[in-house]
Amino acid sequence: MERLKKRGISIQLIPRKIIFMIVALNATANEISESGRKFNWPEHSCEKCSRKMWGHGYVSRYFDGITDPIPIKRLICAGCGMVVIFRPSTHWARFRSSIKSIYEILCFRLKDCFWPPGFRRQRGGYWLTKLIAVVLMNGVTSTLEFLEDRYCRGICFFV
Ligand SMILES: [Zn+2]
Repeated sequence: MERLKKRGISIQLIPRKIIFMIVALNATANEISESGRKFNWPEHSCEKCSRKMWGHGYVSRYFDGITDPIPIKRLICAGCGMVVIFRPSTHWARFRSSIKSIYEILCFRLKDCFWPPGFRRQRGGYWLTKLIAVVLMNGVTSTLEFLEDRYCRGICFFV
């Protein structure tokens, strides 16, 4: 930037609103962890303007059962600035626990009325509160049936 100013070239930086998007990969967290940055990251086109997206570094993400953080590749669109971050298909965005694990723990809690031994009830309480809110919004009578139905159909329990 300083070099350009010395040459009499002025640049006006226009702040852009960055749009993030989380895209599911057809891979588990363990598969990504084993390969690390060498994982075969897929090419991706921008959802907004259809341009090819470019590498934009990595972000570290923690997942249950894996000690070290996993490097997750980010992509950026040169056209509109949209940033894409991948996630394993076994996990929902913003959850460290796998979908299967959340399902099994919530099933355990709903059937037995207590949390599995060794499980942090605070985390489960957060999931259960969100699940019950969705159940109430949908006017469903059986929380367990609702949970099983959503799991079988691959729909997030909390939306
Ligand atoms: Zn774009």
